[in-house]
Amino acid sequence: MSYTVVSNLDQAVEALAKSEGKARVVAGATDLFLGNLPPELVDISTVPDLLGINRDPDYLSVGAGVTHARAAASPEIRLKAEALAEACREVGSPQVRNMGTLGGNVVNAAPAADAAVALVALGAKAVLVDLNGVYREAAVEDLYANYNLSVVDSSSEILLRFLLGPTVRGEGSAFLRFAPRGALSLPLVNAAARVRLKGNTIEAVRAVIAPVSPAPTRLSETEKLLLGSKPAQDTWRRVEYTAAAEVDVRGSMLRCSAEYRHHLIGVLARRMIRKALERALESKEGGDGR
Ligand SMILES: Cc1cc2nc3c(=O)[nH]c(=O)nc-3n(C[C@H](O)[C@H](O)[C@H](O)COP(=O)(O)OP(=O)(O)OC[C@H]3O[C@@H](n4cnc5c(N)ncnc54)[C@H](O)[C@@H]3O)c2cc1C
Repeated sequence: MSYTVVSNLDQAVEALAKSEGKARVVAGATDLFLGNLPPELVDISTVPDLLGINRDPDYLSVGAGVTHARAAASPEIRLKAEALAEACREVGSPQVRNMGTLGGNVVNAAPAADAAVALVALGAKAVLVDLNGVYREAAVEDLYANYNLSVVDSSSEILLRFLLGPTVRGEGSAFLRFAPRGALSLPLVNAAARVRLKGNTIEAVRAVIAPVSPAPTRLSETEKLLLGSKPAQDTWRRVEYTAAAEVDVRGSMLRCSAEYRHHLIGVLARRMIRKALERALESKEGGDGR
């Protein structure tokens, strides 16, 4: 087996092109090293193009090579993409968070991946480059081909960064998960939401749940229920009921019964949307420094 550490994007593209499909990129290796290894690996973990966390007027750009630990600690992400910081804080253990990257989390395509759920709720777009130097953008939820299978072929395409519209005044986001243990435990359910208020009316909402299908899944009925509404006391019971009813889940020996997962989905949906809404209210009133 060959292992090539590259220090810039040109070298990465060149190494992949030279291998003619035999090599795959590796970042933190927390997923890749658990499976069958390809004959050649191209280590992109120090490529500067993948490591930035930058803000411009329209986007918060987060490199695909940013580790969960860095994302969780980043002041920019904590303020402008709370759900992502919260999701990254929950991943695995300190060792896994120090090595595992956001790009790997998405391309590995595990249906319960925490950062991916937050990225979809935040409406993140992925920026990718292929071996001909052609760039493309895709919504994160469109990168899933099937369970544990990405449309990104990491022998011929590199995920560079995620572009997120930063949360602005009147917006808030939140992530929650429920797992049997506090660490090193895959979630039974994870959930994230982003809410924007105009006055006291919900003007935009993205609510996402996993693992219920190959990709993080939008709760479209729950979103419809909330859109244009002014949340009141009875809203939350209806959110819980609608979210639990709109997804089809199976029970599994690995996780828990279908009934219990339905219950968890309702409860988590209610809690995370409520939390995102509280943050939106707080930011509208200027209490969070935005
Ligand atoms: C003990 C343990 C506990 C874990 N707990 C959790 C958890 O609680 N929640 C959770 O979400 N995950 C968890 N994980 C999974 C894992 O840590 C994450 O999915 C991690 O983010 C993967 O990133 P990586 O850099 O290690 O990817 P790698 O293992 O390096 O790569 C994974 C895949 O992505 C491809 N790839 C990586 N980077 C790129 C790129 N920039 N462009 C194109 N393709 C790329 C690789 O070719 C490979 O196919 C756990 C893993 C372990 C070992």
